[in-house]
Amino acid sequence: MNKEALTKLMQPKSIAVVGASAQPGKIGYTVIENLLKGGYKGKIYPINPTATTILNLPVYPSVNDVHESIDLAVVTVPVQFVTQVAEECGKKGIQALSVITSGFSEVGRRDLEDELLAITRRYGMCVLGPNIVGTLSNSDELNASFAPFLPFVGKATLITQSGALLIAMDAITYTRKVGFDKMISIGNMADVDFADLITWLDTDENTSCICLYIEGLKDGRKFIEACRKTQKPIIALKAGVSEHGAAAAASHTGSLAGAVKVYGAAFQQAGVVQASDLNNLFDRTLALSLQPPLRGEKLLVITNGGGVGVLATDSAERFGIPMHFAPEDVQVELKKHMPAYGSAKNPVDLTGMAGNDWYYESVKFAYAHPWTDGLVVLYCETAISNPLEIAQAVKKAIDETHIKNRPVVVSMVGGTRCDQAMQWLVENGIPAYGPPDQAMNAMAALREYNNIRNILSQPSTTCDPEGTKIAREVIARVRADGRIAMTEIEAKQIFTAYGLPVAPTNLATTEDKAVELAKVVGFPVVMKVVSPDIIHKSDAGGVKINIKSDAAVREAYQTILVNCKKYKADANIHGVAVQEMAPWGTEVIVGSVNDPTFGPTVMFGLGGIFVEVLKDVTFRVAPVNLKQVEKMLTEIRSAPILGGVRGELPRDRAALAELICRYASMVYDLSDEIAETDANPVLVYEEGKGLKVVDARIILKRK
Ligand code: ADP
Ligand code: MG
Repeated sequence: MNKEALTKLMQPKSIAVVGASAQPGKIGYTVIENLLKGGYKGKIYPINPTATTILNLPVYPSVNDVHESIDLAVVTVPVQFVTQVAEECGKKGIQALSVITSGFSEVGRRDLEDELLAITRRYGMCVLGPNIVGTLSNSDELNASFAPFLPFVGKATLITQSGALLIAMDAITYTRKVGFDKMISIGNMADVDFADLITWLDTDENTSCICLYIEGLKDGRKFIEACRKTQKPIIALKAGVSEHGAAAAASHTGSLAGAVKVYGAAFQQAGVVQASDLNNLFDRTLALSLQPPLRGEKLLVITNGGGVGVLATDSAERFGIPMHFAPEDVQVELKKHMPAYGSAKNPVDLTGMAGNDWYYESVKFAYAHPWTDGLVVLYCETAISNPLEIAQAVKKAIDETHIKNRPVVVSMVGGTRCDQAMQWLVENGIPAYGPPDQAMNAMAALREYNNIRNILSQPSTTCDPEGTKIAREVIARVRADGRIAMTEIEAKQIFTAYGLPVAPTNLATTEDKAVELAKVVGFPVVMKVVSPDIIHKSDAGGVKINIKSDAAVREAYQTILVNCKKYKADANIHGVAVQEMAPWGTEVIVGSVNDPTFGPTVMFGLGGIFVEVLKDVTFRVAPVNLKQVEKMLTEIRSAPILGGVRGELPRDRAALAELICRYASMVYDLSDEIAETDANPVLVYEEGKGLKVVDARIILKRK
């Protein structure tokens, strides 16, 4: 994306409003009115073939009648005229279009969008939209939209796929006092997408935090790349996480809303903090836009009420923040600023007797102490204190430490006096919330931001070229045979090339050969049908385990063939595989699918009924690094089973993590060929004893 064109879109020095109207109530009128009301200092050129003046501005019949250069054209003409306008703007040398007009892919007219793009690409223009509200920027005094006013001033920037939500959130910024510098309606994302704007905003000095409302991304990988490179915190609210919601989102913006678990994984891998709902988006944006990340684990809570202290501690646990007692020296010092019955442990309870001074002294000491990584200040309204004065004391104490790299959040529980005090805090750079759990959630966002960025710092596991070469030879043979389904033997050859430990599997085409192979492997053995037409071998009666003698091998050989012919008369049966009977272990599944938004992904879950019934699985976009996979292993609900239950020793999670890394590098590397794969089951042994892949499946893409 052309950065210069994006700068003209975001910070235009002159704007043509094409489709300007003299009629109040029309969008072409509102945009001009908003530009004027917003205090825009650049030139405004209303374009309309018939009108002469609009809101006292001279009107031009077309952009070509304007002699000066124009940075941005805001297009509000009816849909059937948009391409013609784009052509005129291109000829005029305008580099940026903001197309408010709707009636494109969101109503099934993808063709109109393509036509528009064909023109704008020819002229090297960038296009925001179509189907948008427009753009707003406090620092540029720019309201190039039909949203009625610029947002409450602040340092966050919103990019939203829903225009209606932009207008609503714009209003909420005033009631919630969450400040934004810019709000951008991104609409159908025909051209400019989230990634382009995120990259541009990374160098925008007026944006400290990027806040996203996403229904569906088009290019998931581009998004992840752009977010990863960004130095600023990004927070996303993903809509369409329910099945019905996903359908609504898809028809709404004409883009695909991917599987919720994959989005969740992708956000983590992009270093994007998630919000659970609209309120939460505001809460977390406030913290991320005003405070540094929480870089360590030592969170100190100072309160004047035991109750809110306990509530905050409960919330900390809920959000995964461990609470620690303050060290002895910290406790001794804090004890000086509270009555004898107060507590200096953590939460530090100054008691209801606390006034401005106690808050000031204890905050100043605790915040500056090297033990403290972050501070949560709680306050319950009391008869002996004034909330605003408490807020001012807290702020003064913080400022006097001159520390800038530790986050602080405040919760004030009370009435309108608390509301006013919190507003004062927010205006002075300290996020403040009513309920303590809201404050703790905001702190959790600052911690999550830190943690996901740390996980990203490790490079992904990549494979060696030799493995790729072998894998591609196997794929070529299967393709030459006119198939997309691989047999277990073929799939295992590929797994082996990527260093996955498989139970060796060899093909027998006669009973005698089967007996011979069994002798080499050693009893007991497992025998399985080998047929590209039988994907689920057990369903066909094609698997016999724990075979202990020559006679049993012969019997199994016959039974498997009979069963499979009965199951599928025309199945092409290559023969029967003989493999080592692996000792019992915890069964897990590792698999992959090609996500329409994010491409190859790797999936992990416990095997057997867990995967079929509980769907207790977790995803990552491939490739992955070891830290990401270690996190994956803790994410499934049945994770404690890997830790060892009922007296069992813990399972070999290190070997499992390595397997998943290699697996992900395999599916990433071969993503042009592989549609889906699984290793189901993988038998995982106790710590230090490794694991074994006993079944392998690969389905190639149709070409
Ligand atoms: P499919 O999934 O096609 O039905 P599998 O190869 O997964 O066939 O075999 C079915 C089950 O048999 C596995 O889930 C596993 O419990 C067991 N099994 C298969 N191969 C082995 C082996 N080599 N060692 C031990 N158990 C095995
Ligand atoms: Mg299987």
